[in-house]
Amino acid sequence: MGDTAVPCGLPSVPIVPTGRSRKEFQLGRPRTFATEDASHEGHSQGLDQAALAPMRAALLRWYTKHTRPLPWRNDPDPYRILLSEVLLQQTRVEQARKYYANFLERFPTLDALAQADEEEVLAAWAGAGYYARARRLHALARKLPGGALPASYSELLQLPGLGPYTAAAVASIAFGEAVAAVDGNVRRVLCRLLGWADATQRKLREAAQALLEESSPGTWNQAMMELGALVCTTRRASCPSCPWGSWCKSFGNPTSVPRPRPRRARAARGAALVLMGRGGVVMERRGGPSLGGLWGVPYEEGEQALHVLLARFSLEDAAFLGQVRHAFTHKRLTIDVYAARVDQAGMDPSTLAVSRLDEKILALARERAVEDVNAGQSGRGSTEAGSAD
Ligand code: SF4
Repeated sequence: MGDTAVPCGLPSVPIVPTGRSRKEFQLGRPRTFATEDASHEGHSQGLDQAALAPMRAALLRWYTKHTRPLPWRNDPDPYRILLSEVLLQQTRVEQARKYYANFLERFPTLDALAQADEEEVLAAWAGAGYYARARRLHALARKLPGGALPASYSELLQLPGLGPYTAAAVASIAFGEAVAAVDGNVRRVLCRLLGWADATQRKLREAAQALLEESSPGTWNQAMMELGALVCTTRRASCPSCPWGSWCKSFGNPTSVPRPRPRRARAARGAALVLMGRGGVVMERRGGPSLGGLWGVPYEEGEQALHVLLARFSLEDAAFLGQVRHAFTHKRLTIDVYAARVDQAGMDPSTLAVSRLDEKILALARERAVEDVNAGQSGRGSTEAGSAD
């Protein structure tokens, strides 16, 4: 993809390879230009094209030296790159390594993933959280004949569940397409570099695209993300060791931008019912984007949660076992856990894909049951909660 000069001196590169035109924008000028006079009026807030080459070289030099040896690096398999990107959307790198290895062991190819049933896929994803990601990946695999991902950004973007970031990451890293990927790390680096308190996704993608090193877009995108992950971090940016220190508008004052996005996590209360049936625990399929498809014990949220649960199973009462806390990105849950016996079949939870939240609830029930058995053996009698296991 060739560069075309535009008035601000930056290369004109389409955001997507469709020839769509884009607005011009200006990069932050090097701090070393700060005393120059207004004869640079057109560039007073910008960086002329001459700075792009040294900036690109500086970042790539830094990346070569500091890149972390992550298992998905240096592996051009598109499926593996897609898997790593999907995992990293909501999971920290250290945890993602473990889930990445486990998932690939079970499903080494897209085709193997397509052949699996959803239960197996969710079980392999267990613990990584945000199970909607696993369901979307599985649905995607089933939609791709021959188990091959399309090789262009525009085609990848048409696939269900793939947004601009993931499509750009796969297109650039797996297929070498010159398209910039903008995730949270890249947003933070760009906003600080350019002194933007905030920016639309379109504006960020335009900036990222103009900076892109087109001869190695996959390496470049990973270098940008790595800079945000290791140096230009949210709270402790290390400007003196940053390869872009000489050009950055936020050097020495990194946390002033970008403006933090409002936190959406809200506190919520709920109740869970561990019901012991004739052959195990009563389990239900969960719905919703976070846990949908997984198995869990009956659960409700809200003021009347326990009453709703008791009414659903025609119960008068249940024994209180204790509280479990669990955090999602959007919600911090405090759950009162109760137990009772019912005349239903029940299931063995260890044979099911159970969410981390329900693992905590079931662990609490087991813990209480063991305590009650011990109390009974020592002559202290048992409690109702002990009957839950
Ligand atoms: S100089 Fe500081 S604020 Fe600017 S990109 Fe580097 S680490 Fe971030």
